[in-house]
Amino acid sequence: MKRTFIILFVLSLVCTMGQAQNSPLNKGYKKALFIGAHPDDNESCAGGTMILLQNQGCEVVSVYMTSGERGIKGASLDEAASIRRKELAEACKVMGVKYRLMTQIDGQSEINAERYKEMLQVIEEEKPDVVFTHWPIELHRDHRNCSALVLDAWKHSGRNCDLYYYEAELGQQTRNFTPNAYVNIESVVEQKHKALLCHESQKPQEILDKWHYDMEKFRGRESECSVAEAFVLLQKTRN
Ligand SMILES: [Zn+2]
Repeated sequence: MKRTFIILFVLSLVCTMGQAQNSPLNKGYKKALFIGAHPDDNESCAGGTMILLQNQGCEVVSVYMTSGERGIKGASLDEAASIRRKELAEACKVMGVKYRLMTQIDGQSEINAERYKEMLQVIEEEKPDVVFTHWPIELHRDHRNCSALVLDAWKHSGRNCDLYYYEAELGQQTRNFTPNAYVNIESVVEQKHKALLCHESQKPQEILDKWHYDMEKFRGRESECSVAEAFVLLQKTRN
């Protein structure tokens, strides 16, 4: 019995050390790209980590693959894009990070040779040493497409760059997600929520109530703090 307890204790210690080692805050990154399919994806999935990285001197750029053109009922694609671009600019201001827009259209994102090239170009121009994006097993097609394009660009860029996957909606859109990295976001969680609330057209309080308050608490429980964000780290091994 005593021996079992010691083995379990050592295993949990090794696991905790591994998670701390995998935390993006402990890697000394100089530049981070967060690439989400829609305005508000980066903020809701990893906004706390964006703020914390920026605060420790890492340059953070929030990249949006679409402008959320289909996210407002009754608005034309152009009208919705214009509203959502204003909202994302406000959210990035609250987080203190830069942003960059890509040219795909919400709800009709594509994966083809041109789009692979476009994503690769973003990574080559920005020169990050870490990239964050959607987990590949996502029920939202734009999220899956974004993830596949980023994975391909990450592999083909000449950069020795880490890749972290984040989760959108635990247990619903995001499936089979088993984190190996956590970030304690207690110190910036209010700032994160303030950024998310800038996306007024998306009824952000409902999104927080339905998903992210619980997700942050659940991931916090797993990583021994009150609120956390969780990731899967894929380290680059040289091609
Ligand atoms: Zn999305």
